[in-house]
Amino acid sequence: MDRLKSMTKKQLLLVAGLLGILIGLLIFFSLRVIFAKDDHTHYHANFGLFINGKRDTFSNFTFYEEVQSCSIDDANNPKHRVHMHNQENDVVHVHEPGVTWSQFFTNLNYGLTDKLVETDDGLFVDDVEGKQLTFILNGKPVDTVANRVIASDDTLLISYGIPQDADSQYKQISHSADEHNHKPDPATCSTNGELKFSDRLKQALDFTK
Ligand SMILES: [Zn+2]
Ligand SMILES: [Zn+2]
Repeated sequence: MDRLKSMTKKQLLLVAGLLGILIGLLIFFSLRVIFAKDDHTHYHANFGLFINGKRDTFSNFTFYEEVQSCSIDDANNPKHRVHMHNQENDVVHVHEPGVTWSQFFTNLNYGLTDKLVETDDGLFVDDVEGKQLTFILNGKPVDTVANRVIASDDTLLISYGIPQDADSQYKQISHSADEHNHKPDPATCSTNGELKFSDRLKQALDFTK
């Protein structure tokens, strides 16, 4: 107390002012941590690829992304934008806005245009030897899909072969996208709405946001 007394009024004001600023900063920072929002895109779609009547099961593990490729830091990796997880071969995880179906196929090391599809088994071109490339999107036949932006809850059939088979193939695709939209990914990829504390801190420190 003696020390306090010996302080001049000016010094006391300075200390009080500095304390005030410190507390203010602390509150400001805490609020940023608490209210850090998961503004990252994350939604799902379903798809099925059939070549000559046979469904591609994407059985190789290389078709599925590791948890690591889902961290916020990894946003520059194009594979981060859209991929599959957990050996679920008909669920597309979209992590950025504006991602197209052809970009998804590129990430699988496949190729997709409106006239051909390229898989591990080769190149399948529309209208060759009576075989056709057929697309059914959300129950309706469409001519173009490659440059379409994948929408949440989309169900897409890509079928190469006899067009008459397409309807029954479409029915085999699950509609689990909506369910996935409402639960966090088991792989702890970007969670739905809930941020990890480390991500909150990172966002709180990023003053460009
Ligand atoms: Zn997901
Ligand atoms: Zn993911």
